Amino acid sequence: MLLSPRIRAALLAVASASLLAASLPAPAAVPLGIGDPLFPHLGNPGYDVTSYDIALTYRGDHRKPLDAITKIDARATDRLDRINLDFARGTVHSVDVNGAPAGHESVGEDLVLTPKTPIGPGGAMRVTVRHTSDPAAGSDGGWIRTADGLAMANQADAAHRVFPCNDHPADKAHFTFRITAPKHLTAVANGLATTRHHGERTTTWTYRTRHPMATELAQVSIGRSAVVRRTGPGGLPLRDVVPAKDRASLERWLEKTPEQVAWMERKVGRYPFETYGMLLADAKTGFALETQTLSLFEKSLFTRPEYPEWYVESIMIHELAHQWFGDSVSPRRWSDLWLNEGHASWYEALYAEERDGPSLQARMRHAYQKSDEWRARGGPPAAPKQPEPGHKISLFRAVVYDGSALVLYALRQEIGQSAFDRLQRRWVRTYADQSASTADFVRMAGRVAGRDLGDFFQEWLYAPTTPPMPGHPDWKTSAVSTASSASPASSGV
Ligand SMILES: [Zn+2]
Repeated sequence: MLLSPRIRAALLAVASASLLAASLPAPAAVPLGIGDPLFPHLGNPGYDVTSYDIALTYRGDHRKPLDAITKIDARATDRLDRINLDFARGTVHSVDVNGAPAGHESVGEDLVLTPKTPIGPGGAMRVTVRHTSDPAAGSDGGWIRTADGLAMANQADAAHRVFPCNDHPADKAHFTFRITAPKHLTAVANGLATTRHHGERTTTWTYRTRHPMATELAQVSIGRSAVVRRTGPGGLPLRDVVPAKDRASLERWLEKTPEQVAWMERKVGRYPFETYGMLLADAKTGFALETQTLSLFEKSLFTRPEYPEWYVESIMIHELAHQWFGDSVSPRRWSDLWLNEGHASWYEALYAEERDGPSLQARMRHAYQKSDEWRARGGPPAAPKQPEPGHKISLFRAVVYDGSALVLYALRQEIGQSAFDRLQRRWVRTYADQSASTADFVRMAGRVAGRDLGDFFQEWLYAPTTPPMPGHPDWKTSAVSTASSASPASSGV
């Protein structure tokens, strides 16, 4: 929520440029960003969001737009004559800033507001946007239409296709969701339920997060759902959301979560949030997603007989591990994505090994063989290539999954098991509820190991080819075939 001094300095540079522009008569509104090279127009300079309050009214037809009111509480970090929000794919009816009507226009994927009076540096602002949120308008993320309603998948850049926001994980905030839906449906969102109001034909469900959250991790599920409750380690409330008709047949999977949370806690420490659970959506998504406190899965992952049990369990662990790596500790820039996916893949592989899956070493040896090819295709782990235009999910390539778990394996080989374990625990404890960068990780690893690891990480994270694996001089990478360099992205988890 509160950005680091380094980011503030960068924002100041952008803001002073816009101040110069503001002294000229009526400059045109332009889409802005916070300087993420992979997503130049994502996020906005000049303010920190502290909280979102999002009210959604669903009328029972997931092809029709929802009515919505999004209230954003934020603090200006600079003088703001204009306020840029990220928002595309909805009709904006009206905008208030601090209670007064404000001008608004859509430019690119930004909604640019002109408040009656400029906001001074440090000033509080409450922005209220009355708008629609359209689940039918596109297929590049945001709302997902399920057999019985809606769910959400906003990673990496699609939250602003659902609600107006500062759509970058560097600006985390608290969230309240108020979802009004026909009586026969169940609504669930991130965090814990606070109140429920019954109208004549509708119910309004309110959920609130206790921890700050990135916009990309927002989740709202509306459908004919059963909410299955149980208690996890240390009294952690668990709640899974499943199609009501499939509740009994899915129980054998749902009941695994308490043991999985305990397993992760033995590895890295206390679970970071107020609740956890799985949302099993009756939809074809092609991925699972670590939406905060309520991970999204395709129901079919749990019903297709061809998947071995260890495989399904390891995908469950992947999303659970993200609650620490990616959710509680968010990326500062999208090029830090390897910290999310590398760690989630690491625990996925460790868990698979314990459950009759392939051994970690065999999996890492295979990753080593492929690593040069993955780097050629997707860039090195911490400097990934741009996603393909119009296909931003292609950022999620093999190099950020097993190609980055391989970096963690090399690190463990280099500094030893005990230092590696201490680093994992210290990382999620130190940066809980914050955004952290690759440089933060490199610095902390060096401190824990008691020596500078700058050269080691430079090679492993940024070199176009894979360095020798410590302790395995016999491991070799396959030659890069030029024919495969244009092959499609792997389907992510
Ligand atoms: Zn993942």
